[in-house]
Amino acid sequence: MSSDPTLTLSRPVSDEVRKTTCYMCACRCGIDVHLKDGKVSHIEGNRDHPVNRGVLCAKGSAGIMQHRSPARLRAPLRRVGPRGSGQFEEISWDEALQTAVDWMAPLRAAAPEKLAFFTGRDQSQSFTGWWAQAFGTPNWAAHGGFCSVNMAAAGIYTLGGAFWEFGQPDWERTRLFVLFGVAEDHDSNPIKIGLGKLKARGARVIGVNPIRSGYNAVADDWVGITPGTDGLFILSLVHELLRTGAVDLDYLIRYTDAPFLVNAADGPEKGLFLRDADGAPLVRDRRTGRAVAWNAPGVQPDPGRGVVVDGVEHLPVFRHLAERYLDPAHAPEAVAERCGLTPARIRAIAAEIARVAFEEEITLDRPWTDFRGVRHDKMTGRPVAFHAMRGLSAHSNGFQTTRALHMLQVLLGSVEVPGGFRFKPPYPKPATAHPRPHGRATPGAPLDGPHLGYPQGPDDLLLTEDGAPLRIDKAFSWEHPLSAHGMMHMVISNAHAGDPYRIDTLFLYMANMAWNSSMNTSAVMEMLTDTDESGAYVIPRIICADAYSSEMVAFADLVLPDTTYLERHDCISLLDRPICEAEALADSIRWPVVAPDRDVRAFQSVLLELGARLGLPGMVRDDGSPEYAEYADYMVRHERRPGVGPLAGWRGEAGDGVGRGAPNPAQLQRYIDNGGFFVDHIPDEAQFFKPWNAAYQDWAVARGLYDSPQPYVLNLWCEPLRKFQLAAEGHGKRQPPEHLRARIKTCFDPLPIWYEPFEQAALDTAAYPLHALTQRPMAMYHSWGSQNVWLRQIHGQNPLYLPRDVWQAHGFRPGDWAHLTSPHGKITVPVARMDALNPHTVWTWNAIGKRRGAWALSDRAPEAERGFLLNHLIHELLPPRGDGLRWANSDPITGQAAWFDLRVRIERAAAHDGPSLPAHPAQASPVGQGPAVVAHGAEWTT
Ligand code: SF4
Repeated sequence: MSSDPTLTLSRPVSDEVRKTTCYMCACRCGIDVHLKDGKVSHIEGNRDHPVNRGVLCAKGSAGIMQHRSPARLRAPLRRVGPRGSGQFEEISWDEALQTAVDWMAPLRAAAPEKLAFFTGRDQSQSFTGWWAQAFGTPNWAAHGGFCSVNMAAAGIYTLGGAFWEFGQPDWERTRLFVLFGVAEDHDSNPIKIGLGKLKARGARVIGVNPIRSGYNAVADDWVGITPGTDGLFILSLVHELLRTGAVDLDYLIRYTDAPFLVNAADGPEKGLFLRDADGAPLVRDRRTGRAVAWNAPGVQPDPGRGVVVDGVEHLPVFRHLAERYLDPAHAPEAVAERCGLTPARIRAIAAEIARVAFEEEITLDRPWTDFRGVRHDKMTGRPVAFHAMRGLSAHSNGFQTTRALHMLQVLLGSVEVPGGFRFKPPYPKPATAHPRPHGRATPGAPLDGPHLGYPQGPDDLLLTEDGAPLRIDKAFSWEHPLSAHGMMHMVISNAHAGDPYRIDTLFLYMANMAWNSSMNTSAVMEMLTDTDESGAYVIPRIICADAYSSEMVAFADLVLPDTTYLERHDCISLLDRPICEAEALADSIRWPVVAPDRDVRAFQSVLLELGARLGLPGMVRDDGSPEYAEYADYMVRHERRPGVGPLAGWRGEAGDGVGRGAPNPAQLQRYIDNGGFFVDHIPDEAQFFKPWNAAYQDWAVARGLYDSPQPYVLNLWCEPLRKFQLAAEGHGKRQPPEHLRARIKTCFDPLPIWYEPFEQAALDTAAYPLHALTQRPMAMYHSWGSQNVWLRQIHGQNPLYLPRDVWQAHGFRPGDWAHLTSPHGKITVPVARMDALNPHTVWTWNAIGKRRGAWALSDRAPEAERGFLLNHLIHELLPPRGDGLRWANSDPITGQAAWFDLRVRIERAAAHDGPSLPAHPAQASPVGQGPAVVAHGAEWTT
């Protein structure tokens, strides 16, 4: 008989695994949630999932602590103390819902625009937008305006798609990958997996970023550019490519507007495309020298020569472009110093890009047919890919800078080709295939159409008869005509100022607008609590829906507590921001892998119930009963167009429909059985050249992505911008206000330009010699992470990082604090030295600093003692210009918040040893404070 002891060497961590979708950041990886005795015991990556293939980041595995967070709201709350104090009483759901209905119903009946409904980084925007449209308010948008709308809008106006959710590098074939301004939070696991593939193949990675952290730290080459000058650098690369002839003319002629003829004569048509009677842009046909439709059978477009029609000269886009960027003003010598680089470095990078693109050409042996009916026997690609994010876009010149990057890609012929940038379904989709914006409210009726869209000219602006903005955030007005994601960062200040009008109820979902999501944070908190002469709040009512006790929740009059992401249904939908890959259509769900243990409800289900109680069309039946029992029911049965609903997989009664098909009652179970996601691969023949590939277009129509094939060309020349410029020059019926004419004339150039960021142009830069930036760390996402007991151990505080020269010049020593001053304010913060940093730049991690009392943290939490926000230094308006007018601190084209235009000066705070300043008084916590010790696997202990 053996005497060996019985050892349990590997005890099972769970007795059940449920597969759902992570929500610890926006990448939406697949996760396996392990349950032990009905409780979440462990989270790991789903090895079959198309997004992460089993990879899980620190945030993802720490989801268990997000789910168990002491900061979770526990029941509906009604404010009982002064607004902002955090004093609430718990109420029933029925009372909470009836209160919301009592506030909203009179608004819908009389003035729907008085409800402003804005959401943060939620993932149900097609649903919340549909609800707001049914309510009838024009005032709805999500957080894109203060995040990266420049990235989306510049991409869609230029390419018909954009980076991240709408496109990706060809990770399998790219040989040179250039990253611009990418921190570690966006597109997190997919980029890490992609970089791993590049490194394994020996592909070269160039990181362009003032800060060498994260991806830039593992790049082969780091370009520590001066903030706000990326556009200058990119246009100089374009200069070099044109000068050396390193552009793909064949590609430009076939797939872009390079040969489109542009009116060159002064007058109301200058800068517009020459078109035929059907509106098709014309090109000069080499065979005849005549102007013919760009897509006429057999046409041979000439990108070099123009035509004269009725005495008016028309020149091709490529001629305009070449003359513009071959100008010595774009030569490396002219821009290098301003960019913090040398001319030789710029020339070397341009030469490397050209060498890889044209000497390492890739050919795939895959025949395909283009939309003109021409059969190609292979697919040829240029293996240079780019990716960019907020570092390019969060400047007041960000739209044009991002357009410049896309122009560079197009000139190389590296868009939607092997080795280059590839669209992900439902993209490609050009701006003309998107809706135009709608904003006309009618009492008691839905809005006249979808809120957001892509204007094609002044006629699409949302203005009253006398030219005032229709929206509270002034999106789609002359101030920011192409604000495709709205301007959430302006809502509170505009509502407080009553400009363009006053609202009644501010309804926020998952948006921490009283802290890290607002510029000018201290003033925003005052606006939220400000009263008029009668003592009433200037913003009369605030409703917040959130899962956690954030800083913003304390400013609500009514709190609707949401579930955590493990307790709810969600759909990662093709109607929204899906999880597709370049080679596959994909979507996914979340489902309640555990039941809530508090009196909370999933927000989307709450919204449906509010809609039913308000009698909103589509949400209530003729007999007054709710149309949808809950969000899961909506996910299955809602149809946006006949046969097209939120989820693409297993449609139709038999469950065999992809993209199109009748609702299938078994659909959610099919998703659950498949690991929470659905994938449909694109046929080999259709995987590249998607905008022009007949097989792709037919495949997309069959899946409901389009209703008919829609081939188009990439736009080097942005004609909608030119239409706004023409208006500013005095042409057309709709005219901008006088004070905006000069700005529109300068900034709305149809070819990408660089101009100095507005705040810097308005300043004495000698008084504010440093740029100040924030980045989000890999281990945190927005403000969600710094309540998480595991993630707080990685980033519990955030020093201001200083470059060596600044550190030495001011005599800083380890442990020191500094006063940091902008034209708008002053903060006092801990500092640390970092040498891998642009010498004119200071920076810190974003959203680590917390207000005392929020997030169930202790009043002495390091996040409040030694954490801080730069937001206090950034105003939502630009400095006064002396004409009595103040402009939003945003991109003039899209309204993107210009977070990264901030200029500061620094001095050593010799006598200071904490805390970070300003130190706002503690909010009362409606959920108390978390325990001192949290042990995984045990119940909370205090
Ligand atoms: S990258 Fe984002 S979605 Fe993926 S595991 Fe990490 S936190 Fe979750």
